[in-house]
Amino acid sequence: MVILKGAEISAEIQTEVERQLEALGGYVPTLAIVRVGENPDDLSYERGALSRMKKFGLQAVSYAYPQDISMEEFQKEFLRINGDEAVDGILLLRPLPPQLDEEKITRMIDPAKDLDGISPENIARVFLGDERGFAPCTAEAVVRMLKGYRVPIEGKRAVIVGRSAVVGRPLAMLFLKEHATVTVCHTRTRDLERVCREAEILVAAAGKARMIGADHVGEGAVAVDVGINVDENGKLCGDMDFEAVSEKASMATPVPGGVGAVTTAVLAEHLVRAAAGKRR
Ligand code: NAP
Repeated sequence: MVILKGAEISAEIQTEVERQLEALGGYVPTLAIVRVGENPDDLSYERGALSRMKKFGLQAVSYAYPQDISMEEFQKEFLRINGDEAVDGILLLRPLPPQLDEEKITRMIDPAKDLDGISPENIARVFLGDERGFAPCTAEAVVRMLKGYRVPIEGKRAVIVGRSAVVGRPLAMLFLKEHATVTVCHTRTRDLERVCREAEILVAAAGKARMIGADHVGEGAVAVDVGINVDENGKLCGDMDFEAVSEKASMATPVPGGVGAVTTAVLAEHLVRAAAGKRR
């Protein structure tokens, strides 16, 4: 079984980013990471993104606000960052606390700076298969991982477990664009194991530690694990039981070391694209 390693694909993306940076003639694009509160998942993602941007020769600035910030105050801050000429791209860490109207913020973000594809304009572009938009980085990372390892997607039967707006749904659209035949599963799906076993490409994005086992995997399938969970022993793990899945799959991504590393590389690539678009 082949282990699909995020670091390899991330290194390929880095080479591409460096090439695109050269074309910007010394300009260093800047990412604004906007965080509200101190959620450990957000802090960990922020740390990863900051170090990845640095490694790729890009700049990242973190804007952190207290958990109880009012909508009025946050909106003012967000609009300031959004309108700042020195900011090329924005990553808003979500979910936001309940007093903040997340939908309103996603409608405010400049689509040209919306690196994680949360604005209605970018969602629509992903839906229509229009490459000018920014797709959510994680969904795009899954496709990049498969393409990086030369896994054919066209005509394949792809099954995605999870239908969230950030992963499952946009990934279904990206797979359709690549001409896969797509099934999206969720908590009301009947006979999940059987549906998953039919997949030639199986993606788990459910947020449930090791819920996908050998019985969910067809012989020779390619298994991609998007999940990032902490198990009962405090250990980081995916939505797939890697050992069990490895018995049947021809290729599989580990957690950690899989899709996560590609996600921040895609974010870096989106940042350079946003900067290039602005300077055109
Ligand atoms: P989410 O918003 O909680 O959505 C989970 C989805 O999985 C829902 O559609 C849910 O169905 C479905 N689901 C949950 N349990 C299920 C079950 N037992 N059987 C079938 N479907 C089930 O999660 P998310 O934001 O998409 O994230 C998913 C996972 O990816 C999490 O572990 C998260 O940490 C990880 N993640 C990773 C990255 C990365 O860069 N690698 C980025 C983002 C997220 P319903 O709709 O019916 O509730």
